[in-house]
Amino acid sequence: MKRKRRAVVIGAGVIGATSAEMLLRTGFDVTVIDAEAEPAQGASRANAGQLCYPFAMALGNPGFLRGLPRSLLDPESGVGVSPLTVMRHWAWLAAFLRNCTEARYNRNSERLLTLAKISMSAHAALLKRYDLKFDARQTGKLWLAPTDAALQSAIRHLPLRRHAGFEVEALDVGECLKVAPQLGQSKYAFAGGIYAPESPVGDCRAFTSNLIKEMQAQGVKVEFGVKASHVETSGEQVTGVRTDNGVIPADVVVLANGLAAPQLLPRRHRPAIAPLRGVSVTLPCDPSALNVSITDPKRAVAICRLGHRLRVTGGAEFAPSGAPSRRAVRRIMDVARAWMPDAADYDTVENQAWCGVRPTTVDSLPSISQAGAEGLYVNAGHGSLGWTLAAGSAEILRRQIMNADGAGRAAFDTGPNP
Ligand SMILES: Cc1cc2nc3c(=O)[nH]c(=O)nc-3n(C[C@H](O)[C@H](O)[C@H](O)COP(=O)(O)OP(=O)(O)OC[C@H]3O[C@@H](n4cnc5c(N)ncnc54)[C@H](O)[C@@H]3O)c2cc1C
Repeated sequence: MKRKRRAVVIGAGVIGATSAEMLLRTGFDVTVIDAEAEPAQGASRANAGQLCYPFAMALGNPGFLRGLPRSLLDPESGVGVSPLTVMRHWAWLAAFLRNCTEARYNRNSERLLTLAKISMSAHAALLKRYDLKFDARQTGKLWLAPTDAALQSAIRHLPLRRHAGFEVEALDVGECLKVAPQLGQSKYAFAGGIYAPESPVGDCRAFTSNLIKEMQAQGVKVEFGVKASHVETSGEQVTGVRTDNGVIPADVVVLANGLAAPQLLPRRHRPAIAPLRGVSVTLPCDPSALNVSITDPKRAVAICRLGHRLRVTGGAEFAPSGAPSRRAVRRIMDVARAWMPDAADYDTVENQAWCGVRPTTVDSLPSISQAGAEGLYVNAGHGSLGWTLAAGSAEILRRQIMNADGAGRAAFDTGPNP
């Protein structure tokens, strides 16, 4: 009897879990390894929880660039840079700036929205195969425009989203209040919003952990506390993964280890991925606290309810991970309190603060491609959209592995280091 092909997935975050599920479904004998002791301990741990398909747009755009100096000087904006990170990733920064033109923004956003559409159906299909509990809720997302100019600029980009097949609408202040009556108590003024009903929420960590448990029950081997140090090859073919626990043989290796993926790739195949740090805080709340999820772009804060918990997330610092700074946590709590004073008990000692980094590429497109040796694939660099794009990225990867002729390779390949 022909032996099953063996696949090793490096990384047990949401991208590794969905990649592994795809490989299992495709008939591989799958092993997942992660350096941490549990799944979803990296960026997938306590993110903003938004499956924001219609909002899968590129980070770099002319407006972002124009507003950057002001944001950097404004302590309320949550935007910051670490000089060390700038020095380490100067080539990334230069390439990112080149992606801030209107033309590149439109092209990158179109491709992200296409992937988001694939992801929306792939996620729904996955939920038919597994009964996963992750505080999922079919809710909408409301993006709050701080000024008329911001609203008009967002309205100009609605056709891109509609062209991709998403339902999105511009709302005036009164209509926003109908969608989120809690904003009636807000201390902040706003000019209106962009609302998308097809934007559910869910706990990414619970999804990842439960999916991994389900796969273990189906025979997937999962090894925690095991760090990959090298991808082994023979000639042009992948043969396994060297770890601090020995070599695991493999016919296919998927690097789903986020920010660390480039370290395991030959230089010419390394995607440029840089850290964009954010923090979150999770507070107990009443289920009536909030229905839609809310994004305040001016202060870079997102608020959503996951079951009995309010998740407030924010900040965009070009900096590596670390402990959540008190100042950053206080800032996002203050912003949430100002928007919705009664949504949660903001003074509770039960709050859980977290700091994570978005593994960000220069054009916001994840790197999903064959990378060097035959059988070696990367699925990393999902930036601020990894939860949203996870199921679709696994589907793109499936098409590439199935074709194995490189035909799909350019689909979401962000290319080597600039
Ligand atoms: C503050 C914040 C808010 C966010 N909000 C949202 C949101 O609302 N919606 C959305 O779609 N996305 C959001 N994101 C982005 C999303 O969380 C990430 O894009 C996604 O989690 C990336 O998943 P990943 O599996 O690639 O990386 P990770 O979750 O970081 O997983 C990588 C794993 O690889 C392991 N690893 C690394 N190197 C090795 C090695 N050598 N050997 C073995 N294991 C290794 C790590 O331990 C880790 O577990 C947010 C991110 C942040 C930081």
